[in-house]
Amino acid sequence: MRLLLLVPTTTYRTEDFVEAATRLGVDLVVASERPSTFEEAYPDHLLTLDFANPEQAVRAVVDLARRQPIDAVVPVDDLTTGVGAVVAEALGLPANPTAGVAASRNKYRMREALARAGVLSPPYRRFTLADDPETAASRAPYPCVLKPTILAASRGVIRADGPAEFVAAFRRIAAILRGPDVADRPGSDEILVEGFVPGREVALEGLLRDGALVVLALFDKPDPLDGPFFEETLYVTPSRLPADVQAAIAGATGRAAAALGLHDGPIHAELRINTAGPWLVELAARSIGGLCSRTLRFGTGMSLEELILRHALRLPIPSLEREGRAAGVMMLPIPRGGRLREVCGQAQALAVPGIEAVTITAHAGQELVRLPEGSRYLGFVFARGEDPAQVEAALREAHRRLTFTIVADTVAADRDARGFWCAAGGATAEVPVSAAEVPSCGS
Ligand code: ADP
Ligand code: CA
Repeated sequence: MRLLLLVPTTTYRTEDFVEAATRLGVDLVVASERPSTFEEAYPDHLLTLDFANPEQAVRAVVDLARRQPIDAVVPVDDLTTGVGAVVAEALGLPANPTAGVAASRNKYRMREALARAGVLSPPYRRFTLADDPETAASRAPYPCVLKPTILAASRGVIRADGPAEFVAAFRRIAAILRGPDVADRPGSDEILVEGFVPGREVALEGLLRDGALVVLALFDKPDPLDGPFFEETLYVTPSRLPADVQAAIAGATGRAAAALGLHDGPIHAELRINTAGPWLVELAARSIGGLCSRTLRFGTGMSLEELILRHALRLPIPSLEREGRAAGVMMLPIPRGGRLREVCGQAQALAVPGIEAVTITAHAGQELVRLPEGSRYLGFVFARGEDPAQVEAALREAHRRLTFTIVADTVAADRDARGFWCAAGGATAEVPVSAAEVPSCGS
């Protein structure tokens, strides 16, 4: 059996998918948008595809499939879901309709589909960069949220409580959309404005099989997400919400998937819960991002990646049941912008009972960009325990033990000491220090 994996270079997940494919013994073709130095040596296993150009991608894959039949296509992360659906359709493989996947990737089109289906969603209105921000501000409901229609990971998502904040947010998003990595993409001139939905937030990880939604995990997000920016931190499962609320969340997610025309494969939905019920923030035709899937194990230890590959290849899935224990992840937020110098306290964080791994994904010297412009994390901390409260406490304690040394500006920092910052315990205890005081941990 041969499987085509579509991996954007920005993904954190190649390793986990390759490991799952190896365990299943499937022949893997890995396609990415940048040529690999190994490509010549393995022409049938490595492929360069322009994910932004589905016609070209289809030609290349159809060409390969003529020589080496492909049994399934698995897109990884947001950037490849669109091209994945187009390629699967061209190969005659079971997949979501391309129009539904495209709608799930555009926040305005998603709102239209959800509103038509009667899923609870806030009032919304689309503007373009050609619109006058002051006029737009006079028409907005407050509080509201402004966001690009085509980005992900909370990039460019900003709350505004009044017209002045609206205009500032509009201009800030416009600058992101005009940036070199975004400007050429269709929809990069659009800003969506939505009514702010108050409430607790959850994330639902699901699998669609013949249109039926299987809930793989429901995560609580215990840190309030009230803006002005919406940085993800804690995800803890199982949810502590009452069973009837969880059932309503699953119901709304299933209706939202149907409204978008999605019926196959992994989905990741975010919802906010208040007295009116569950409100759909968004629903994506992909699995959970970052390294967060490492919190999940099914049956006797199967990974989410293996479950997704088995589904795509129509292999039996021994269990769709998540393990009994509570689990969680903290996405380590960037406490301030600058260059990462060092992360201390990793061994101490790992020593907290229940902590399974501390994975720093940012590398020394990397430029760190905070939200709303940035979209990456410093890393991930994973925990498991008897109950969700214990997992949450362990993650908070582990985070408290980590110290991030971030250099504001390398040139200035070399000249004098004012460019160094240490952020202990995350975002709160940030203090400027002199170069001589910068702790060196080597952990
Ligand atoms: P992205 O695809 O970039 O993650 P989202 O639309 O999911 O963008 O928004 C990111 C986060 O911003 C959400 O998880 C939520 O916390 C917050 N958010 C977005 N829209 C709203 C809204 N209308 N009301 C309240 N919070 C919102
Ligand atoms: Ca989101």
